Amino acid sequence: MLVVMDKKATKEEIEFVVATIEERGYTARPIPGGERVSIGILNNEGHVDSSPFLGLPGVKDAIHVTRPYKLVSREFKHEDTVIKVGDVTVGNGNLVIIAGPCAVESESQALTIAEHVKRSGAQLFRGGAFKPRTSPYSFQGLGKEGLHILAKVREKTGLPVVTEVMDLENFDLVEKYADVIQIGARNMQNFSLLRRAGHANKPVLLKRGMAATIDEWLMAAEYILEGGNSQVILCERGVRTFVHHSRNTLDLSAVSVVLKESHLPIIVDPSHAAGRRDQVIPLSRAAVAVGAQGLMVEVHHAPEKALSDGAQSLYPRQFERLYRQVQSIFDNLQSGAGRA
Ligand code: PEP
Ligand code: MN
Repeated sequence: MLVVMDKKATKEEIEFVVATIEERGYTARPIPGGERVSIGILNNEGHVDSSPFLGLPGVKDAIHVTRPYKLVSREFKHEDTVIKVGDVTVGNGNLVIIAGPCAVESESQALTIAEHVKRSGAQLFRGGAFKPRTSPYSFQGLGKEGLHILAKVREKTGLPVVTEVMDLENFDLVEKYADVIQIGARNMQNFSLLRRAGHANKPVLLKRGMAATIDEWLMAAEYILEGGNSQVILCERGVRTFVHHSRNTLDLSAVSVVLKESHLPIIVDPSHAAGRRDQVIPLSRAAVAVGAQGLMVEVHHAPEKALSDGAQSLYPRQFERLYRQVQSIFDNLQSGAGRA
């Protein structure tokens, strides 16, 4: 349930509602909005009777939340969540473009690519230091050294960095170096990792599991918000289907569903969806057209030599083209009738 306070409710009235909720054995979670504060009631088993709250001073309404996820739902918080990463805004009319290699391979590789993508308009740099690989014999990432390289990229280019955390063991380390902590598709339901991310001091980019429903994905985000970290960016990256013409099937309808269901920003990773370079630009255009608030794209200056995901990595020239095209679609949407 959500207790909606009056626009003019005082701090004391809000505190009194919080105390009343907690006296009943529930958890109260105040959510400041643009105009008014709402207070979420969590940890209830079954129906909560709204009558004890409706009569309290400063209370405007009490709404039952019909979805299994609460903190991430629009019923709980109507306004879009806007996330700041350094000077970059995720949401709020900005199309955020994250680009870089699948994996950090060396300092010169990372810096070369970062300079290319920055010049073409990327606002954040991506690069895995800890890589989740299907085969134990494949390149596993440079680990800590990769994080040091990412710090150097940030220092030299000014681009904030996004990098994946794979386990609890390395969480503190990744949290220290990353500007945005990525939780990959394979870990979307790693609940201990999600709980740790819930008290991380950095925004989290939560990718959709390769066979996850939207409800499961939003419930995974709920773990992070429930832990106290409301800075979550959702990332659709394709789901496993029977097709062979692409690595995964990009679920564009997920974008419009998430925009309706949740206040969290949603971006799209066309690279891991496609698995091949020729589909990345068309899928990016489609993702932006459907309402995605950003893209995360793999780019490599020499994809044929890449240690992972070379086949889906764009050449810098292609990324330049992608950027121009998606920006023009986005600008059109913003100045036109707007998104449905
Ligand atoms: C990645 O973005 O580096 C990655 C491994 O993607 P995913 O978790 O979506 O497979
Ligand atoms: Mn990759």
